[in-house]
Amino acid sequence: MANFDAVIVGAGFAGATVARQLAEAGKTVLLVEGRDHIGGNAYDHTDAAGVLVHQYGPHIFHTQHKRVYDYLSRFTAWRDYQHRVVANVHGQLMPVPFNLTSLDIAYEGRAPELARKLLEAYGPERKVTILELRQSSDPELAQLADYVYENIFKTYTMKQWGQRPEDIDPATTARVPVFLSRDDRYFQDPYQGMPLDGYTALFEKLLDHPNITLRLNTDAQEALTFTQVGTILLDGQAFKGPVVYTGAVDDLFQRRFGRLPYRTLDFEFETLPMEWYQTHGTVNYTVDQPYTRITEFKHLTGQELPKKTTIVKEYSKAYTGQAGEIPYYAIIAPENLALYRRYADLAGEYPNLYLLGRLAEYQYYNMDAIVLRALELADQINSEKKG
Ligand code: FAD
Ligand code: UDP
Repeated sequence: MANFDAVIVGAGFAGATVARQLAEAGKTVLLVEGRDHIGGNAYDHTDAAGVLVHQYGPHIFHTQHKRVYDYLSRFTAWRDYQHRVVANVHGQLMPVPFNLTSLDIAYEGRAPELARKLLEAYGPERKVTILELRQSSDPELAQLADYVYENIFKTYTMKQWGQRPEDIDPATTARVPVFLSRDDRYFQDPYQGMPLDGYTALFEKLLDHPNITLRLNTDAQEALTFTQVGTILLDGQAFKGPVVYTGAVDDLFQRRFGRLPYRTLDFEFETLPMEWYQTHGTVNYTVDQPYTRITEFKHLTGQELPKKTTIVKEYSKAYTGQAGEIPYYAIIAPENLALYRRYADLAGEYPNLYLLGRLAEYQYYNMDAIVLRALELADQINSEKKG
């Protein structure tokens, strides 16, 4: 059995970034991945029709962190892509986040007066969360808030979370604020784009290092044993080097305090014999339909393929923990965070174990946030060794 300096579980952005950084610092790294491919939920591949699709839902890269952008740029060139989303409100399409153009579409003649009031109350280019807008004491703005709440947030949030917007973590709806602007992009980050050859190609380069050994189709539990006494065994032998775990933390400890709640998704892919299915990369269905949104991949990737296009519909539901189901979204709520904390404390009993990533940290992180955290953790591990 080979000796390794570090073990990492999960070959998504969290695990793959740490693996690379430790490998470049001269450490030999074992990277264990349960699936039969790298890339985690950012994995993409070509479907039967030849369309590049994202198997676990549409992923658009955006960040304000130059360090993250520069780092990933070592492993990919970028396609300049600015994501634009529209809501389908009873057949009428309007930009999301709801902005001054959406206001024109929804309110027509009354829009200029409402825009004036909004700008006076909050200021130009401001982002106002729907929960904040609903606090407005101006009756006309309160009515507008009701319109946006009813037509953009209520049904979509019920579909996505099974709860009303006011009952979920406010940071979630704050991701898509009302934007007092004509800028109709979904994100305003300075760095945005799609990996030119796709995410999987990016991961292939990221993991292409002689110090990295990748074991696919291997669950953490097959390779690692967590003893009662705070020791981790690798293939039956005590392992003292850093172990970075990026999977669900309740799974790591056999759900001994109970299962952490998540939302999972069903994806319905369809290939259609047409150039384009819709005008935008993503259309959100905010007042009807059982699915939350439809994404058409060619808009995102820029792939040119005549008379063929693939779309995906996303259906959200409660995660039940059954084999094969994937936990996608942590449900941020005080009781869930308290349960998570018990698992994190247990993990703390293993001095060489690090929890990292959207699952292991039970957080709603975008890809860039994960890469940044992974770079910082790798810095920490690399400096500990030196010291
Ligand atoms: P993951 O990508 O989930 O990787 C974890 C890996 O660990 C997986 O490969 C898994 O198989 C493996 N693993 C887990 N447990 C074990 C185990 N016990 N043994 C072995 N292997 C294990 N972010 C953006 O920035 N832009 C977007 O547009 C965007 N869109 C998204 C759309 C959807 C539908 C979803 C669900 C998320 C989206 N995200 C987006 C978030 C993005 O997916 C995450 O930030 C990113 O995938 C987190 O990387 P990670 O490495 O923490 O987790
Ligand atoms: N949201 C909504 N209507 C929309 C878009 C978003 O109600 O048209 C709410 C919904 O609660 C959603 C949250 O805002 O879960 C965050 O949306 P985002 O697009 O950031 O979600 P993600 O891309 O992470 O699935």
